This record gives sequence, C-alpha cells and structure tokens, in this order.
Amino acid sequence: MEVAALKQRVAALYDELANLEVQIADLAEENRRLRLTQMAQEEGGLEGIAFAALKQLYDDGFHVCNLRFGGMREEACLFCADLLHRASAGEGRLAEAQRADRAGLGSESAG
Ligand SMILES: [Zn+2]
Repeated sequence: MEVAALKQRVAALYDELANLEVQIADLAEENRRLRLTQMAQEEGGLEGIAFAALKQLYDDGFHVCNLRFGGMREEACLFCADLLHRASAGEGRLAEAQRADRAGLGSESAG
C-alpha cells in the first residue's frame, strides 16, 4: 500500500516537473524578447526598435522583405537577409553619427 502511494507521488512529481519545464521555456523566450527590446532601445532608439522588431519577425518565420512581407518563410530568404543586413549596417552608422554629433557639439561649444 505504501509503495502504491509512493508511486502515485512520484508520478505527480514528474507531472509537476514537466509543467515547470514548459514554464521555464516560456520565461526564457520572454526574457530573450525583452532583452532584445531593451538592447534596441539602449542602442538605437526608434530605429533600433524597428530593426529589432523586423529581426524578431524574421526569426519567428516570416518574410520581412518587400516581395513577400508577412508571408510564412519556410527557408532562408536572400531578400530578407539583404534587407536585415542593410538595416543593421544603417543602424550602426546612425548610432555612430549620433555619437559623433554629440561629441562635435561638445567641442564646438567649448571652443
Ligand atoms: Zn523574404
């Protein structure tokens, strides 16, 4: 009788463990998205957020290119990849330009 009760308890614990694993996976995914958004906000303001959203959409399996925007993407798409590459390069240049701008303003007002 005790053995049967123990077996039941172990089965219940395994169920609980499975539920916790699902919850951990959900939280890890949410954490990934939040970090991406935070990183984008810190690095590139609105353009960074827009880029992060595009990247997220692409990673979730959708086209972000002009040809098939929003369509399901079953494999890598060269047009999407090119767009993301150009967007990320543009974002970097923008952030760099903003930093140079601030530095320039500082030295001009000093001199
Ligand atoms: Zn595409």
